[in-house]
Parts: sequence; C-alpha cells; structure tokens
Amino acid sequence: MDYPIKGFIETSFSDWPGKVAAVLFLPSCNFRCLYCHNHDLVFLPEKYPDFPLGEIVGNLRKRSGWIDGICITGGEPTLHSWLPALIRFLKSAAGLSPPGVSLGIKLDTNGTRPEVLRNLMGEGLLDYVAMDLKGPLEAQRYASITGVPLGEEVMAQIQASIQILLQGPGDHEFRTTLVPTFIGEEEVYALARRVRGAKRYTLQNFDPRDPLEEGLKSVVPFDEQALRQMQERVNEIIKEKLAS
Ligand code: SF4
Repeated sequence: MDYPIKGFIETSFSDWPGKVAAVLFLPSCNFRCLYCHNHDLVFLPEKYPDFPLGEIVGNLRKRSGWIDGICITGGEPTLHSWLPALIRFLKSAAGLSPPGVSLGIKLDTNGTRPEVLRNLMGEGLLDYVAMDLKGPLEAQRYASITGVPLGEEVMAQIQASIQILLQGPGDHEFRTTLVPTFIGEEEVYALARRVRGAKRYTLQNFDPRDPLEEGLKSVVPFDEQALRQMQERVNEIIKEKLAS
C-alpha cells in the first residue's frame, strides 16, 4: 500500500536527539499555529507529489546500519488512520536495519490524539515521542497560538497525552517554540513544572523568516543567551520531582 508521504529527508542529525534519522513528512494538521513553517505541507498538501514508499524503503535499505531510525512528522501524523499500518510496515520491512537490530521510530505530535498515542505505545511501535506544548495549558491561550477555536475537551486531550508520556515506559521529550509575544519566561517555567519528571523539555527559539502569520515576521526572537538560561532553569525544574 502507498501512503501520501509528502516529504522525505534522507539523513537528519537534528530531528532525534543523539540519533541519525530519516524524516518522513505527513500531510494535514488540526492546528494552524501562527508560527508554523510547514504551512504549505499542512494546508496545501496537494501541492506536493507523494513520495512512493517503495523508493523510500529502497533508499533506507541501501543505508541500513547507518540510519538509527525514522522520524515521522508533519503536519500532525496522528490524524491519519493508516499511521499504525505505516509504522508496522517500517518496523517489519526486511533489510531496513542490520539483523537483530530494530529500526527506531520517533513520532512528532501536538498531543491532540491521546488514544492514538496510547495504542501505538501499547503496541510497542514508538521508540521516542516528541510532543509540542504550544503555550500555557488554557483553552484561550492555546487557541490564540494554534489559530483554531478550541475548548476544554481539546485541553483535556492534551493533558491526557502529557500523562501518557510521563507515565509511559518510552523515551520522550516535550517541546515549546518560544514566540516572545505568545509566552513569557515565567509561563515557560510553569509549563516545565507541569511536566516535572519528563525526560526532556526542549525550548526552541522562534524563527521569524517564514511564519504562517505574516505579522510575526517583525517579532524579535528571544536572545540566544536568555534562551540558554531559560533552558538551564527548565532542565532543573523537570528534575525536581525526581530528586524529591
Ligand atoms: S501543530 Fe502547528 S506547527 Fe505543527 S504542523 Fe500543525 S500547524 Fe504547524
């Protein structure tokens, strides 16, 4: 079966911490984040041809042993009912990794489909999950960042996904893209307290070059040194629970 895979990066050293990964981009998203850089892929996926899965598999086979795993990103991959089948296929396809070595799968998600996350993890299909925390966990704030009206039920789904990752056995990270007009320093620390015990919570600086919302192009990102200091504090906060 072929899948509407809209992008393929053969080798990435930055999408999966400590791993060499190939990256698959899946179309569509249920959010419209104002800072989104993948907006064509998200909103106009029909602009892009599908990457035939056979070609991707052929490419990965040639590089078996060099690639640790595959990062599945988007868009929002969990929207697709065929995602589990795609991952099962990639994990079981012959020759993608050396004998006895399982090809790792990393999933990027916005956390709005906890049941998908739970099922994939329950089936042992995920080796790493990176979940975005868009901002303070309040419906109004989330809606203003994600560009879609959303209510408490969506926030409950996001909270459920956080719990699944915090309580699950797998490796994971939480991530926040810091747009200075959307989130303040103390709010970042409050989010870090919300995910105490997390394996990682990564702060990503906002890139004003090509956001969905044109008006964000004039927003000045956080100073790199300030960002480093915030990351250090966040690293301390998420460990607090483990130490107590
Ligand atoms: S969750 Fe937001 S940033 Fe991620 S793909 Fe969807 S719209 Fe873009």
